[in-house]
Amino acid sequence: MSEAKKLFIKTYGCQMNVYDSERMAETLGGSGYETVETADQADMILLNTCHIREKAAEKIYSELGRFKGLKAAKPDLKIGVAGCVAQAEGEEIMKRQPMVDLVVGPQSYHRLPEMEAKVTEGKKALDTDFPEEDKFEHMPNRPKASRGPTAFLTVQEGCDKFCAFCVVPYTRGAEVSRPVERILTEARDLVERGVKEITLLGQNVNAYHGLGKDGPMTLDQLIWALNDVDGLERIRFTTSHPNDMTDALIAAHGECEKLMPYLHLPVQSGSDYILKRMNRNHTAEEYIHLIERIRAARPDILLSGDFIVGFPEESDADFEDTMSLVREVNYGQAYSFKYSSRPGTPAAERALVDAAVADERLQRLQALLSEQQYAVQDSMVGREVSVLFEREGRLEGQMVGKSEYLHAVHVTAPNTARGDIRKVRIVNTERNSLGGELI
Ligand code: SAM
Ligand code: SF4
Repeated sequence: MSEAKKLFIKTYGCQMNVYDSERMAETLGGSGYETVETADQADMILLNTCHIREKAAEKIYSELGRFKGLKAAKPDLKIGVAGCVAQAEGEEIMKRQPMVDLVVGPQSYHRLPEMEAKVTEGKKALDTDFPEEDKFEHMPNRPKASRGPTAFLTVQEGCDKFCAFCVVPYTRGAEVSRPVERILTEARDLVERGVKEITLLGQNVNAYHGLGKDGPMTLDQLIWALNDVDGLERIRFTTSHPNDMTDALIAAHGECEKLMPYLHLPVQSGSDYILKRMNRNHTAEEYIHLIERIRAARPDILLSGDFIVGFPEESDADFEDTMSLVREVNYGQAYSFKYSSRPGTPAAERALVDAAVADERLQRLQALLSEQQYAVQDSMVGREVSVLFEREGRLEGQMVGKSEYLHAVHVTAPNTARGDIRKVRIVNTERNSLGGELI
């Protein structure tokens, strides 16, 4: 048997890219590749890129520059760029970095084996189509090798919302949902391989409308179907848009036993004027009312969000509205970003807020969000949670896992294994994790 070829994938950006990288590795497994941890061992290097914020492409070009030495030492080394920078830059990448052999957009990676074969023949391969065929239908079934207890599963891709700042509708294309049966099959396969928790992924996951036996099914219906999969213990989903939080999905948070009490629901701004200019199609009050309904269904739910500060035209008063919204909601965890102008999006045409002003606002917002995060973590002390153990900790006998609220929890638990779910009492908090003891 010939020795396996070595593949190194470096992943940037969101969880969907993490999932895509796994699937690319599995697809290239059919061409004789196995993955390795470092670039210098590789016969093929793939950068799976993200284009959501500025300088993404520049970072990729400088990363590619670092592979020059490797390519010189090993002329057969294949170098590829995948993901959203590949989609946005296309042929330009090969022009600027001629050592790149292959450029593949996020909708075409099921074609990687043919592209790799073409590169082996000494040709270049470029594919940034939005093909008619469904890439997931054209990929090999996931191999049966055992794996860790948590997994991502992409159920929906692309986005039709066209927020004024965002490149996703251009790089990932229109919203497409995978059929229900395919998702259930993949979920059952993952469970057979040891997975206990699945996070359903989509750029706008709660707009899911995949085909079921009797027509399109919504995300809550998909979650209920997954709730019946034996051996699957936990379900999560991300990322959601406030306008697609239906009554049935809210109710599922109170009723569906396997759906975890954690929700990432980005609002971006607390100012109605800015929300309108962002094309978010809801007001701050509507968002707050939505949060109240979600908390009525599941009072202990931990809420997370995304915020953009310094969006064009954001005044001091607009920013104070964001601070008020954050105080009112009280997030357990959140992400905040300084606005980054993306060529081709409507907001890119508008005048920027002064950079120093935006920086100062970001610092204030992040200080408030951190304060809330620590207060929520402190409030967990003394409470009983259930922890799914994912890996061994650094200390002797220590295990690390996640609570139902997605807090990382360290526990001294010498007789537990990866994949075990145990009741734990929280005894202390660290900066980004909790400490607990087995009950
Ligand atoms: N679909 C999700 C939603 O609507 O909330 C999020 C998708 S996006 C990959 C993740 C986050 O990146 C967004 O929620 C937003 O806060 C941030 N983001 C997107 N475009 C941005 C930009 N141009 N500048 C700064 N942050 C941006
Ligand atoms: Fe981008 Fe999310 Fe808006 Fe879609 S809903 S355009 S992915 S920020």
